[in-house]
Amino acid sequence: MMKGSINPATGEELPAHPETSEAEIQRILERADKAFREWRRTPCAIRSERFKKAGAVLRARRIEFGDLMAREMGKPVTQARAEIDKCALTCDYYADHGARFLESEVVPTDARKSFIAYEPLGVVLAVMPWNFPFWQVFRAAIPALMAGNAMVLKHASNVFGCALAIESVFREADFPHDLFRSLLIGSRQVAALIADSRVKGVTLTGSTEAGRSVAEAAGRAIKKTVLELGGSDPYVVLEDADLEQAVETCVNSRLINTGQSCIAAKRFIVVESVRRKFEEAFVEKMRQRHYGDPLKESTTLGPLARFDLRDSLHEQVERTVQEGAKLALGGKVASDRGAYYPATILTNVTPEMTAFREETFGPVAAVVGVPDEKRAIELANDSPFGLGATVFTRDLERGERIATRELEAGCCFVNDSVRSDPRLPFGGIKESGYGRELGMLGIREFVNIKTVYVR
Ligand code: NAP
Repeated sequence: MMKGSINPATGEELPAHPETSEAEIQRILERADKAFREWRRTPCAIRSERFKKAGAVLRARRIEFGDLMAREMGKPVTQARAEIDKCALTCDYYADHGARFLESEVVPTDARKSFIAYEPLGVVLAVMPWNFPFWQVFRAAIPALMAGNAMVLKHASNVFGCALAIESVFREADFPHDLFRSLLIGSRQVAALIADSRVKGVTLTGSTEAGRSVAEAAGRAIKKTVLELGGSDPYVVLEDADLEQAVETCVNSRLINTGQSCIAAKRFIVVESVRRKFEEAFVEKMRQRHYGDPLKESTTLGPLARFDLRDSLHEQVERTVQEGAKLALGGKVASDRGAYYPATILTNVTPEMTAFREETFGPVAAVVGVPDEKRAIELANDSPFGLGATVFTRDLERGERIATRELEAGCCFVNDSVRSDPRLPFGGIKESGYGRELGMLGIREFVNIKTVYVR
C-alpha cells in the first residue's frame, strides 16, 4: 500500500511512500538487533565522531529539510530550519558529553570494588508525532544511540517523508546501516512491535491516548517506556509582573509552531488587578499575527498540520463559547484552500470549560481571571496535565518559590517561555507522561543501570 500526505497549505496530495511490509519489518528488526550487538562494543569516541558528522549533515541539508517539513505538516520554513539547527546542536552536545554521562560510578561498599555501569538495552522503538518531525525523533534517538542502543522509528503517518529523510542523515553520517531504521506503518501495528522480543524499550511522544495504549502493551510485555504526552501549560501572570514582557512571551509561546506544541502556553491565568490591561495588549499583539504560506520566510503562522485537526480545534472553540466564554479575537474558519486557523483568544474562561480542561493544539488562547496568587496556583494545577508552567513576577524569589514548590509540572519557568534545552532534563508528570529526555538523565532512560560487585 502507498501512503501520501496532504499538503495542509494547499490541500494537494504529496508523492506517496510505500508502506513497510510485514516481511520487511521482520528483516529490519533482525538487522537492527544485529547492528546493536556490534555498536554496543564500538567505543564512545567513535560514536561521538558519528554524531559530529550527523550534526554537519543536518546543517548542510537544513534548507531541504525545512521545505520538506513545510510541505508535509505546514511548519513555517524559518521555524523548520531552526528546528534542524537544534537537532544539530544536540548531536554536538551528546558527542561532547555523552561518554562522561555513561562512565561507571564507583560506590564504596564492603567489596574490593563495587560500581554502577550503564549498559545499553538493545533495539528501542520510537513512536513519534508530526509536530516537530525532526526534533522529537532526534531528541529521543541521539541519547539512545549514544548509549549504545539501536532504534526503529514509527513516525506519524503524515510525515513519512521526514522519517525517510532522518534515516538518510544517519546513513550519510556513517552510522551502521541498520542501526536506525524507519518503519512506514500505521499505529495498529505498534502493539505487535512492542511484544517482539527484539524490542527492548519504547519511547512515545504524542497524545495521552496514544501513550495509554502504548503503556498498556508495554506493561503486558514488561518493557521500559518513556512517555512524552500532551500538555495544557498554564502561564500565570501576577500583579507585579512586567506586563509588556509577559504579553510578548505569552504571544510567542502560544503561537510557536502555529500553536501545535506540547509546551505551548495554553491557559493564561491572570490576577484580576492587571487582567484588563493584559487582555488589551494580548489581543492587540495576537491580532498582528496573520497566517500565510509556510514556504515564505516572512511567515510566522502557518496552517495547522491537517484539515481534521483544524476542524476539531474549531469545534473546541465553539464549545467553549457555548459554555459562556467570550471570543475576543479570531475563532472563524476562513474559506482558504489550506488548513488555516486564525490567532484566537477566549476570555471569561472558567475551569469547567472545554478550552481549560482539554489541550488546544493550535493558536487558541484561554484567559482566566483570578483574585490572587493562591487561586492562580490552584487553577494552574487544576488540570490532568503537568508538562510545563510559567509564572511572571518581578519578585524573583517569589517566582522561584512558586516554580519550585507550588506548580505541578515537569518544567517550571520564571519570566520566560517553557522550552527544551539539550543540557536540561525534559518531561512531564500526571497525564503528560513520565520519564525524562535530554541532559544526563535522558541518556540513562534506555540503559541497564547495572550493579557490579567484585569481592
Ligand atoms: P498522536 O495522534 O498521539 O500520534 C503520535 C504518534 O503515535 C504517531 O506516530 C501515531 O501514529 C502514534 N499513535 C497514535 N495512536 C496510537 C496508538 N493507539 N498506539 C500506538 N501508536 C499510536 O499525536 P499527534 O497528533 O501526532 O501529536 C500531538 C500530540 O503529541 C499532542 O497531544 C502533543 O501535546 C503531544 N506532544 C507531546 C510532546 C512532549 O514532549 N510531551 C511533544 C510533542 C507533542 P499515526 O500517525 O499513524 O496515527
